[in-house]
Amino acid sequence: MARAYIVPEKAVDTSIKKIFDVEKIRKDFPILSTEVYGKPLVYLDNAATTQKPQCLLDTIEQYYKGINSNIHRGVHFLSEKATTNYEESRVKIRDFLNAKSTNEIIFVRGTTEAINLVASSYGNKNIKEGDEIILSMLEHHSNIVPWQLLCERTGAKIKVIPINNKGELIIEEYEKLITDRTRFVSVVHISNSLGTINPVKKIVRIAHERNIPVLLDGAQAAPHIKIDIQDIGCDFYAISGHKVFGPTGVGVLYGKENLLDSMPPYQGGGDMIETVTFEKTTYAELPHKFEAGTPNIAGAIAFGSVLNYVNKIGFDNILKHENDLMEYANEILDSIDDLRIIGTAKEKSSVISFLLGDIHPYDTGTILDRLGIAVRTGIHCTQPVMDRFGIPGTVRASFAFYNTKYDIDMLVRGIKKVIDMFS
Ligand code: PMP
Repeated sequence: MARAYIVPEKAVDTSIKKIFDVEKIRKDFPILSTEVYGKPLVYLDNAATTQKPQCLLDTIEQYYKGINSNIHRGVHFLSEKATTNYEESRVKIRDFLNAKSTNEIIFVRGTTEAINLVASSYGNKNIKEGDEIILSMLEHHSNIVPWQLLCERTGAKIKVIPINNKGELIIEEYEKLITDRTRFVSVVHISNSLGTINPVKKIVRIAHERNIPVLLDGAQAAPHIKIDIQDIGCDFYAISGHKVFGPTGVGVLYGKENLLDSMPPYQGGGDMIETVTFEKTTYAELPHKFEAGTPNIAGAIAFGSVLNYVNKIGFDNILKHENDLMEYANEILDSIDDLRIIGTAKEKSSVISFLLGDIHPYDTGTILDRLGIAVRTGIHCTQPVMDRFGIPGTVRASFAFYNTKYDIDMLVRGIKKVIDMFS
């Protein structure tokens, strides 16, 4: 059974006044000073996963060297220490998201698992044949397929908020989609393929006026903007550690406590129970009810520690620096004949998806790779977006706070080389 843990008031120090020095920050990320094919790495695939600072690597090493033990079950020194660090990390994440309580912070493997948890647990209990679930055209497959599986189980239906030619949600159409059978809305906060920042507060408000719960897929938002769950007001929010400079295999589902309380467990096993007999099992309190089995302990602890690092850099600095990069990149890329940017939303985050004439994105990506430039090519797990624009995929450059104008200059030089090779 889960051991009681006293939750500190505030675990994340946001008071530090920050000076943003990108060259100094880059030194915190060992991989950024490596080479590929004998060329300095230009890493522009941050929407797929972000790079890891030394403090994260240190936390993982220290954990396995000096703390490694299973949590919640042991009376011995190491187990107590591992449990304390694990639960402290939950506090850091509560503060990072500005959630009300650690009971609302469920450790999962990532955004994908968080959404599956809600679709299964909340969905199986509350969604019935003929009910409707609203998604948007911008969704990552992770926020489509779990709902389709739910619809197959229950006979519910999915409705889709369309987008305009800039890649923005058409909010009037969203309002029209809502009926008295709408039971759930699940929408991405920031699109991973186009960078569109959705008006999530408005989306939540419209749904809540009809008592419809809302899940937001925050995988791409958490690394770029300050998330204030209480201000947004959503019912569920999903993030992945590896998109926020943390480890792979760990993420968080935020859920409002009353909703999580009312939901049945997602998986059964150790740690999520109170008592077990063959006749009847009772479940542990939140958040443990949703954390069956041994979790990614080192990952969860390291995720908390890296959020401290991100907070020290400061979201004001991150936003300003990334906006400067976007402005710089947009201006130069716009001036290249034959380059077409896909996704030109007014509110846009650090993603530029583009096509070069009729050159296949895969060819562009492969040539850029040989120049040491890591971009992503393809459909970015958002096939409906590609179908909407009638394209086979895009080349996607995505930025993080450690990218520089030099990285963009290298990208532009690479793009010009691709165009030369194909002309
Ligand atoms: N949603 C969005 C918007 C994403 O960008 C991603 C990752 N590309 C996911 C969901 C899935 O995240 P994960 O693979 O970490 O579960």
